[in-house]
Amino acid sequence: MIEFDWKPDKNSQEPIYRQIVRYIRDKIAAGDWVIGSRLPSQRDMARAFGVNRSTVVTAMEELISYGILESAYGGGTRVKSNTWSLLMSQPPDWNKYIQSGPFRANLPAIQTINKLEFEPGYVRIGTGELAPELYPHELVAKIFRRMPEVIPHLGYLGPLGLPELGRVLSRRLARDEGIAADPSNILITSGSLQGLQLISVCMLKRGSRVYTEAPTYLKSLQIFQSAGMELCGVPLDREGIKFWEIKDASVSSLLYTIPTHHNPTGTVMSRERRKEVLQFSRTHRLPILEDDAYGKLWFDQKPPRAIKAEDTTGSVIYMGTVSKTMAPGLRIGWVVGPEAVVQRLGDVKMQTDYGASSVSQWIMTELLESGDYDLYLDDLRRELRARRDNALSALERYFRGMASWNCPSGGFYIWLRLHRRVSMDKVFSKALEAGILLNPGNMYDYRENHAIRLSYAYAEPEKLDWALRTLSYIIEKYDQKER
Ligand code: PMP
Repeated sequence: MIEFDWKPDKNSQEPIYRQIVRYIRDKIAAGDWVIGSRLPSQRDMARAFGVNRSTVVTAMEELISYGILESAYGGGTRVKSNTWSLLMSQPPDWNKYIQSGPFRANLPAIQTINKLEFEPGYVRIGTGELAPELYPHELVAKIFRRMPEVIPHLGYLGPLGLPELGRVLSRRLARDEGIAADPSNILITSGSLQGLQLISVCMLKRGSRVYTEAPTYLKSLQIFQSAGMELCGVPLDREGIKFWEIKDASVSSLLYTIPTHHNPTGTVMSRERRKEVLQFSRTHRLPILEDDAYGKLWFDQKPPRAIKAEDTTGSVIYMGTVSKTMAPGLRIGWVVGPEAVVQRLGDVKMQTDYGASSVSQWIMTELLESGDYDLYLDDLRRELRARRDNALSALERYFRGMASWNCPSGGFYIWLRLHRRVSMDKVFSKALEAGILLNPGNMYDYRENHAIRLSYAYAEPEKLDWALRTLSYIIEKYDQKER
């Protein structure tokens, strides 16, 4: 569906309907709106343009009379543009092109979320990001001030990234996580998403399987599927993935896991389970991809050590990121693995983007070298814990008897499982109408569910409280209608 980000100029000499005709004609001539695409209803267009519906009707009639638009089957209008566009020099058939690349489109619900997150007026109760007010302005400003002296140049860097950053990460991985990794085992990436992308395109054959927890963050992405792989869900219990349910672990597959503060369920894999998973991986020569995006965000007690920390045979590839602890906009992540793997990924990275931003890498180096980062993390954990408590008590107040949920010991997420089988599409759209943007659990799962991924990291606590109260009414009301 076409969307508008333009309004006619009411002070112009040119009649408003003519301006609309010109705007639509130019959009089609430029190839922005392809043949066959549908325009919104006349009422929605009138609202978007800020004009009377009759003005839109006049403009539509004119465009239809030119043969630029036609009435669409099932109501509405769509772009026709045949004879007319021949006169104007025909644009390429972009529609055909944009559907031809191998990379799959995002799930429609995610496209909607990605767009609405940047529109004001919504309370975002599922966003996997720290609230803007938690951004450590002072700390970052201090680091930025040092940058002119610190940065010697901003040229390209080598395949593994900034050596200074590799060294500080190596020290910290040993000190904080018990992971022994030389700088030659560490690749700096543009966020951990890039780590996933690189692994999908250069380490696995088409047709390979990627086992994941069910549900999982990975299911909300199309990275592995676009590279011709199949994602296979493995159930979770309170201690983590039930790896023994993987029946056909073959050499051309991989186990992707988020053992600590799992996205979306908040689960922390027990120490015992980590050991067993690693043993299983060794026995079956099934590599593990350990995604530790949330590992530093524990509240009361440090979680068990990373699976990678016990990996003496090079079976585990480990990924970290600064996105959840501080600033996703830096786009800095790291992949830790056997040298041959890291070099291969680095080689493909050089052909993809020639390195993550050097500015971000220098900032990260300074940040990790300063003790300030650890102090900041202490504060952040306290703040997140308070937000978690607020979310839990709101759930107690509004969802008791209606849903079940976990009490996360860190990270961002509460997995809210509704007891009633309400349509999640309906809940999503009704919540939107009320000004609440939520992440339906379906997009993380392999089958229909009636869950919502809540995040207490983003919305302000009072707003989250309001949103949960409103959401409980919506579900209650809708459920009664259904019965
Ligand atoms: N892994 C997990 C588990 C995540 O939740 C996210 C962000 N939602 C990412 C990776 C990607 O993070 P980034 O690319 O910003 O490092």
